[in-house]
Amino acid sequence: MKLLYIAGMSRSGTTILERTLRDRDNVYSVGELRRANFLLIQKYQGLENITVTENCSCGKNLAQCELWSSIPGEMNDKPSPTNSSNRTQRLLFEICSLIFPLSILRLIGKLLPFSRFHNIIHLGENYIDICHSVAKKTNSTIIVDSSKNLHHFLLLRAVAPETVKLIFVVRNGRAVANSATKPNRISNPYNNIGLTDRQTAIKHIASSWTRVNIAGRILIMLLRPSTSSIIKYEDFCNNSDIAINDLFRKMKLFKLPAANKHKSELAKTEHSIGGSPSRHSANSKVITVDNSWQKTWTDIDESSFGLIASITNYVFGYQKKS
Ligand SMILES: [Zn+2]
Repeated sequence: MKLLYIAGMSRSGTTILERTLRDRDNVYSVGELRRANFLLIQKYQGLENITVTENCSCGKNLAQCELWSSIPGEMNDKPSPTNSSNRTQRLLFEICSLIFPLSILRLIGKLLPFSRFHNIIHLGENYIDICHSVAKKTNSTIIVDSSKNLHHFLLLRAVAPETVKLIFVVRNGRAVANSATKPNRISNPYNNIGLTDRQTAIKHIASSWTRVNIAGRILIMLLRPSTSSIIKYEDFCNNSDIAINDLFRKMKLFKLPAANKHKSELAKTEHSIGGSPSRHSANSKVITVDNSWQKTWTDIDESSFGLIASITNYVFGYQKKS
């Protein structure tokens, strides 16, 4: 089993990429697996001790879903990740996981219990075990996890470096900021507040976009090319088959078959967790680059987007609105 981990800023096309991969044979998409910590609680503490709020794409609560409710019974017995770690412990683990192999990380966890490394490692082992169980249940050789978060990727990579591969999705920061602040976005907290607040939102998103993209780029520079790769939303939308084949070649994975229409139609009966509701629909339309931001982006938007985000955007090869 190989685990393809999709990371990147929200509204960068992570869901479109996930859907395109999902529609090929041997691939199963689990959605945002990091949201499924209920599986671990269910396994180690029992179902009666949890209230599961997360829904599966099949429409059922995860605890009632045919696939997810069966996973804790499939998993191997591993030490339970009992105590959670704080931000400093997680950051320290991230840095050490880039330098040391798992055996040294385990040793650090043993010698310095306050580092909570042992706990973080157990968490990663359990998540990898969930992926193996899903692969077995669904007869898949590739699992796609679009949890987006880079810490979670490092956690999985630390315990299964040969299994996990990172795909980092990049999209023009202005397009991301515009998409996230559209007045009709139901999930947008700045919805219907007016222009001033759209500007606050753009500032906020430009800053997150810069942070996430710089972190992603640095991480990819530090990892082996066969472990991680960047994919540009725009390239991917222009020709998804070429972009995916190129990605798989770089990451030394076998060539994926073309999208299977029948599998695409079955998407509604699959079981993936969280994220954009569009994930749960079948691929009914052809993918095209959404450049609608170019029509509505104003000088005020540009000023809110800011210099640092502009420079970062430029470094990624994106031009200012012409
Ligand atoms: Zn389900």
